[in-house]
Amino acid sequence: MAVYFHEEDLPADVLQGDAPLAVDTETMGLITPRDRLCLVQISDGSGDEHLVRFGPGSSYDAPNLKAVLGDPKRLKLYHYARFDLAAIEYYLGVTAAPVFCTKIASKLVRTYTDRHGLKNLVEELLGESLSKVQQSSDWGGPNLSDAQRDYAASDVRFLHRLRDELLVRLEREGRLEMAQACYDFLPTRARLDMAGWAEHDIFSHA
Ligand code: MN
Repeated sequence: MAVYFHEEDLPADVLQGDAPLAVDTETMGLITPRDRLCLVQISDGSGDEHLVRFGPGSSYDAPNLKAVLGDPKRLKLYHYARFDLAAIEYYLGVTAAPVFCTKIASKLVRTYTDRHGLKNLVEELLGESLSKVQQSSDWGGPNLSDAQRDYAASDVRFLHRLRDELLVRLEREGRLEMAQACYDFLPTRARLDMAGWAEHDIFSHA
């Protein structure tokens, strides 16, 4: 159980195999074309987390990371995939699908609450605690603090177990198929955000 830190790409020999990958990103903010991608976090559920940091002016030439993220045979787990898919496609040029999104699954089964944050899910479904103190910190500096590294790694630490729990509930409520259709649409949803339809719901009448 360790957190591995890498600059500009993954090493060639890590995260091989076909296990699902938990993925998260940290950026300079919420506006993808303006706010650069600073960090990609990945875990295969074995207990280790890999952090790939990109510096200012990065070329995002990361062949090993792109190969892993873009592998169409490998499921990627996210919490709020819509944002991460957009950032990864915009900066790294790969579509990091197929997708499972724990926030969408939560909205489809936890209809008794409006609390769908990762922290809420980890507490309720796994009985563990997750700190979000570093969420809004500066991810663009020359050095990431230990607290930032721990926080970044913890954002991918629980996604495999959350998926297992959420799959049981999606099945129980008969919403697996609907969830899968949403996941299949997510790369397009992220592209609509990038193309100017971020706020406008093209399914609405208005
Ligand atoms: Mn995060």
